[in-house]
Amino acid sequence: MSLSQRDQNVIWHPYTQMKTAALPIPIVRGEGAMLYAEDGTGYVDAVSSWWVNLHGHAHPYIAQKVAEQLQTLEHVIFAGFTHAPAVELAERLLQILPQGQSRMFYSDNGSTAVEVALKMAIQYWNNLGTPKKKIIAFRDSYHGDTFGAMAVSARSAFTAPFWSYLFEVEFVDVPVPGKEEETVKQLEAYASGGDVAAFIYEPLVLGTAGMVMYTPEVLNKLMQLCQQHNILTIADEVMTGFGRTGRTFATDYLQHQPDMVCLSKGLTGGTMALGATSCNEKIYEAFLHEDKSKTLFHGHSYTANPVACAAGLASLDLLLQSETQDNIRRICSQHNAFAARIKQMPYIKEVRQQGTILAVEFEDSTTSYFSDLRDTLYSFALYHGVILRPLGNIIYVIAPYCITDEQLNQVYQTISGMQEVVSGNRHYPRPDLTMLHD
Ligand SMILES: *Cc1c(COP(=O)(O)O)cnc(C)c1O
Repeated sequence: MSLSQRDQNVIWHPYTQMKTAALPIPIVRGEGAMLYAEDGTGYVDAVSSWWVNLHGHAHPYIAQKVAEQLQTLEHVIFAGFTHAPAVELAERLLQILPQGQSRMFYSDNGSTAVEVALKMAIQYWNNLGTPKKKIIAFRDSYHGDTFGAMAVSARSAFTAPFWSYLFEVEFVDVPVPGKEEETVKQLEAYASGGDVAAFIYEPLVLGTAGMVMYTPEVLNKLMQLCQQHNILTIADEVMTGFGRTGRTFATDYLQHQPDMVCLSKGLTGGTMALGATSCNEKIYEAFLHEDKSKTLFHGHSYTANPVACAAGLASLDLLLQSETQDNIRRICSQHNAFAARIKQMPYIKEVRQQGTILAVEFEDSTTSYFSDLRDTLYSFALYHGVILRPLGNIIYVIAPYCITDEQLNQVYQTISGMQEVVSGNRHYPRPDLTMLHD
C-alpha cells in the first residue's frame, strides 16, 4: 500500500474535507525552497509550508543546532527550572522586538501565543481592580483556532458551529485604503465607552483574510486612540514577524508600540513548534503581588522546549546574516517588478505587496464558480511544480528567503498562466487527483 493510501486509513488532515479531498502528496525530502515527493517530483514551496519556513527546508545549520541540543537536554519542566536556550532566545528576541517589550512568555504555537496575550490583557485589568470586558478586533482577522483565538477572529463559515460559545468581541472594519476614516470612527466609538480591555490586530497584513493590507499611518492612528483611552494593544505578528513585511517586524513601520506581541510560525525558521508572547513592563508588573491569585496561571507541557528554542536561536542567527537580509531585499524588488507587470494584465482585480508578501487577486464573477476555481488554481500550480494555496480567488506568495530567482520566476510564470485558467481559455492536463471516495 502506498503512503498516501495508508494515510487515508488513519489520518485526519487539517482544514481538509476528507470525503472529497485529493490524496495527499507524500513528501520525502526538502532542500532550500524545494520539497520532493516520493515519486521524485520537485515542488517550489511558495507558501513556506503554511508561512513558517524562513531559510529553506532541512537547513543544515538549524539541523546541527537542534541535534546538539537534543543530545544535551531535550526538555525540562519550565516552572521552577530554566535553561540556556530559553533565556538566550528571550534576550535576543527582546533586543530586536519593538521598543518597550521586556518579558517573554513561551507556549507552543500561534494560537496559544494569542491565548496568552488575551489572558494577560484581561487579567491585567482584573489585577488592577478595574475589570474591563470588551476586546476590539478587525472584522476579517484571523488569530488562530483555539476558542479564545477564534473569538477574536472573523465570524466566518470556518467557525460558525462555535459562534455561540465564543465571547463577544467588538469588530471594526479593516482600514483598507480609502476606508481608513470609517475604522478610526468605529474604534473611537467603542473606545470612548471606557470598558475596552484590549485591541488585537494583525499589523499591516491580514493573512488568512486574503493578504489584505493597510497602511502604517492608519494603524498608528488606531494605536494612538487606544493609548489615549487606556486600551491595551496586542500585535499579532505570528505571520508578519521575522522579515516577512520587509522589516524584522511589521511593528517596525510604526511610531506607536504595542503592549504585547505574539510570535510563532517563523520563530524557529519553520523547524519546531514554538510560540511566544512578549509584553512590556507595565503588563508584567500588574502580575507581581504577594496575593497569589494575581499570578498568570497559564502554561503548557512543552513551554519553552529547549530543542525548539535552539531552533529559534539558529533561525535568528541566519535571519540576521547579511546574506539573508540581501535575500529579503531581493525578493521585495522581484515581487515589486512582477506586481507592476501582472497589474496590467486582464482578469486581475488587484495586486498587493508588503515586503516579501505578494498577493494577486483575480476577478471573481460568482462565488460558487470561485470555490471551484480555488481548487482548479491549486492543482494548476501543483501541475507546474509550485505549491500555492489560493485563498478563494486570491493567490499569494510567501516564500522561504533562500528561494532563487529561477524558482521565483517559475512561481511568477505559474501565476501568470492562471489568468488563462480564470478566463477559461486554457485547458491543461490535470494531474492525477484521485478523489478519496469516488
Ligand atoms: C497562523 C496564525 C495564527 C495561528 O497560529 P497557529 O500556530 O496556526 O496556531 C495566529 N495569528 C496569525 C496572524 C496567524 O497567521
